Amino acid sequence: MYRSHNCGELRASHINTEVTLAGWVQKSRDKGFIVWVDLRDRYGITQLVFDEERTSKDMMKQAQDLGREFVIQVKGNVIERASKNPNMPTGDIEILVSELNILNEAQLPPFTIEDDTDGGEELRMKYRYLDIRRNPVKNSLIFRHKVTQEVRNYLSKEGFIEVETPYLIKSTPEGARDFVVPSRMNEGQFYALPQSPQTFKQLLMVGGMDKYFQIVKCFRDEDLRADRQPEFTQIDCEMAFIEQEDILNAFEGLTRHLLKEVNGVEVEKFPRMLYDDAMRLYGNDKPDIRFGMEFGELNAVAQHKDFNVFNSAELVVGISVPGGNSYTRKEIDKLIDWVKRPQVGALGMVYCRCNDDGTYKSSVDKFYDQDDLAKWAEVTGAKPGDLICVLSGATNKVRAQLSALRMELAERLGLRDPKTFAPLWIMDFPLLEWDEDTERYHAMHHPFTSPKPGQIELLKTDPGAVKANAYDLVLNGNEIGGGSIRIHDKETQALMFDYLGFTPEEAKAQFGFLMDAFQYGAPPHGGLAFGLDRLVAILGGQETIRDFIAFPKNNNGRDVMIDAPAPIDQEQLTELSLKLNLKS
Ligand code: ASP
Repeated sequence: MYRSHNCGELRASHINTEVTLAGWVQKSRDKGFIVWVDLRDRYGITQLVFDEERTSKDMMKQAQDLGREFVIQVKGNVIERASKNPNMPTGDIEILVSELNILNEAQLPPFTIEDDTDGGEELRMKYRYLDIRRNPVKNSLIFRHKVTQEVRNYLSKEGFIEVETPYLIKSTPEGARDFVVPSRMNEGQFYALPQSPQTFKQLLMVGGMDKYFQIVKCFRDEDLRADRQPEFTQIDCEMAFIEQEDILNAFEGLTRHLLKEVNGVEVEKFPRMLYDDAMRLYGNDKPDIRFGMEFGELNAVAQHKDFNVFNSAELVVGISVPGGNSYTRKEIDKLIDWVKRPQVGALGMVYCRCNDDGTYKSSVDKFYDQDDLAKWAEVTGAKPGDLICVLSGATNKVRAQLSALRMELAERLGLRDPKTFAPLWIMDFPLLEWDEDTERYHAMHHPFTSPKPGQIELLKTDPGAVKANAYDLVLNGNEIGGGSIRIHDKETQALMFDYLGFTPEEAKAQFGFLMDAFQYGAPPHGGLAFGLDRLVAILGGQETIRDFIAFPKNNNGRDVMIDAPAPIDQEQLTELSLKLNLKS
């Protein structure tokens, strides 16, 4: 028996018990005649004591030589501490050690294994196994476990079956680049790693599985924006014989369950918002509704004067910043610089102070009188004491810019409290999205998403206007899940591929298996997938997903611990019939 107890569980009630503990040396304090050692394991820290009077000379010496992160086992008696530490769960007791076994020595770790460590991100990633010993990372992994357990509990109770689907597949087009794996046995051919199990879960519905879920790795070879990972985890779900309403209810139920069980938070029925409204009111398809600051479109009240910047703009739109009139001129200038940064890209910003006495003072007073500005205030909902910020330009661009400003200001105003949870559904996404680069329409969600009933015809005349039975679940300004009701008949699916620019031959080559399956009695079906990493991070009140992933990759897609990706031997290349043609 390596241990009778763990390092987090001994209390005053255990005094006079003989125990065996094992763990790592967190730190030791050597006063010469007495040595204290903090012993750490996953469960906590227990103080060990060795002293001249009660400890043999040899053991005293051994204790004095213990280094940080040595792995030891001790036997001893639980005694009351002379000076108790109320900040530690085990702070009432210590172990008077009678036997010390050094199980393994350790080199001095490259950073301190403390909650606040001196190790930078890259160093901690290189020695991730040491990082995992630290409470913040350890607790995040335990938290993630709790979330996944609750997901499994809830969905199993609701009759969902967890089914694994293959990782070595053929490409599924979900908008990103595939990771590919060469096949040795099939010379010159490649598997793709799934961007998601999308087609497989649909085939499971054809197979009659009815309610499926899987906590599953997905792979997308994208340039990694700040907080993305090339491999990430989804809670992937699909249901048959359902309508959109059933899906929304099922997964609202799951989300509510998680908020309750994991965070102890009860939330009302999730609000629903049309995609078009989200874009109009928040400039964003994943609005953070923990706070207001909704957009007010000002074209009607700002385009009748000689201010050409506004007159020539497709959209003039503003937000009211609560209490913003208290900003100094310098602070406002900084804000203007902020929106002009390339990451935001606005050309400038017009502002209007709403004075406490009900008057207005704007940066464009030359063009607008008090009555005009009162209308701006009305449209943006500004009150005396607020500041109205106005941007103008091409609709899509200006919405994205004002959305960025809204989020930034809310952050500065402390309106984005991580302990407040504001979920909502965004409904009726467009089916297609225009891609400037390829000058073609792409499926906004994926090509298996069904158009709204009766809108198929519109595909011919105004493809961009067609709405889909597609929905996203948004939590605190993050998309945590998304899905759709699928096409389940061969004709509509063929039509979709056609509109997306696939020839019938290409469609057959890529998706023949799905079209075939649709000929053998495919039930109506739909589903969604949650991004587990992000969901866990938000529930855990954190911004970054990395801390919730045991072995994450860096922004270049590298695992700096195992040093991957890495070249392979010539022998392996030959076996795979591959020849490198390197650019550098
Ligand atoms: N496969 C989709 C995705 O990864 C989710 C879904 O439609 O169920 O976004």
